[in-house]
Amino acid sequence: MRRVTVFGSTGSIGCSTLDLIARRPDAFRVVALTGGTNVARLAAQARAVGAEIAVTAHADRLDELRAALAGSGIEAAAGPAALVEAARRPADWIMSGIVGAAGLEPGLVALEQGTTLALANKESLVCAGPLLMETARAHGARVLPVDSEHSAVFQALIGEDSAAVERIVITASGGAFRDWPPERLAQATPEEAATHPNWDMGQRITIDSASLFNKALELIETKEFFGIDPDRIEVLIHPESLVHALVGFADGALMAHIGPPDMRHAIGFALNWPERRDLPVERLDLARIGQLTFAAPDEARHPALRLARDVMRDGGLSGAVFNAAKERALDHFLGRRIGFLQMAELVERVLDKMSSDRLGNRVPTLDMVRDADARARALADETLGALTA
Ligand code: NAD
Ligand code: MG
Repeated sequence: MRRVTVFGSTGSIGCSTLDLIARRPDAFRVVALTGGTNVARLAAQARAVGAEIAVTAHADRLDELRAALAGSGIEAAAGPAALVEAARRPADWIMSGIVGAAGLEPGLVALEQGTTLALANKESLVCAGPLLMETARAHGARVLPVDSEHSAVFQALIGEDSAAVERIVITASGGAFRDWPPERLAQATPEEAATHPNWDMGQRITIDSASLFNKALELIETKEFFGIDPDRIEVLIHPESLVHALVGFADGALMAHIGPPDMRHAIGFALNWPERRDLPVERLDLARIGQLTFAAPDEARHPALRLARDVMRDGGLSGAVFNAAKERALDHFLGRRIGFLQMAELVERVLDKMSSDRLGNRVPTLDMVRDADARARALADETLGALTA
């Protein structure tokens, strides 16, 4: 039996992960499940899979969680320190399914225990890619990508010589506003942005897909995970979301990964790795689908992509600053304090003001990342008033 833990079990990635785990009760023993405000769901999940412990990120929800677990024999804990403790519990495999920079520290701690880290939390790599990958190396632990594009690249590279890789192409659906005229975008509401044409995901990543901030994070994620020169990473608009990524080799071959837009493929691949097993995902009928379409992204229309290229060039703490400013910009958009297009404007202003945090090639420590994250959030809040009306 493999011991598994799921961080962010109550979210979209977490629920899909538990769905796969629950289908093979003889193969997995669930150690810890963690969640945020949805304590009722967290407790129900812990009961359903017989977890050892359930942890909510909110210290003030401990009594509620205890009450929901009464009589089950399942331990309850709460607060950020309890999350980190949960990452220390011996496990063979951990899903990092928390959204945002809050996923970084539990992931690092899991790697320090030598645990295999299935990484959906792309923000970890954006904030602290070199630190995360070095921690894995130092402790002989593995990071397996769960983002669909990065899982696709990882799969296309199996058995290949990385020196022969010429380029990596990650696809983007274009999100909810792909066909909107630019003048309409300024008025887009959170409700409109939170509807994805192909994927069913958490609210924040869905809005990041509409603004292309999600693809911007994924560009940085590609650089950090695969250690490839940013000039060799391309974004390709592909509205059907069936080709997830392509790897181009020195001989001109392009290896594409094609599959349905269902995260249980990438999650299941990481869960079963290095084996491949049957997964409950649709089998594509390409003859019925008939055609796949591709287009070049218009980087002028999508400032998020341009900013990601700046971050990849600058390195240091700029990824942590970029992510934190983006998280706050999204909070302010959700709170209707800024418009859809002002998110990128706000992130760019914070990046400009914190340009001294680039650091060159030094690998930032966790404390440095945390500090840059906090300062970027504060600066994003202070800068709101300066945005163009
Ligand atoms: P979600 O909002 O559905 O779930 C997020 C989970 O994190 C929940 O369990 C929530 O309780 C928990 N959480 C939120 N804030 C927290 C905090 N401060 N501390 C601890 N826990 C906290 O999000 P999601 O769509 O499942 O995305 C999770 C991660 O996976 C993100 O990094 C996202 O970018 C990535 N991802 C998601 C998808 C997808 O299909 N949903 C695809 C690729 C990558
Ligand atoms: Mg993705």
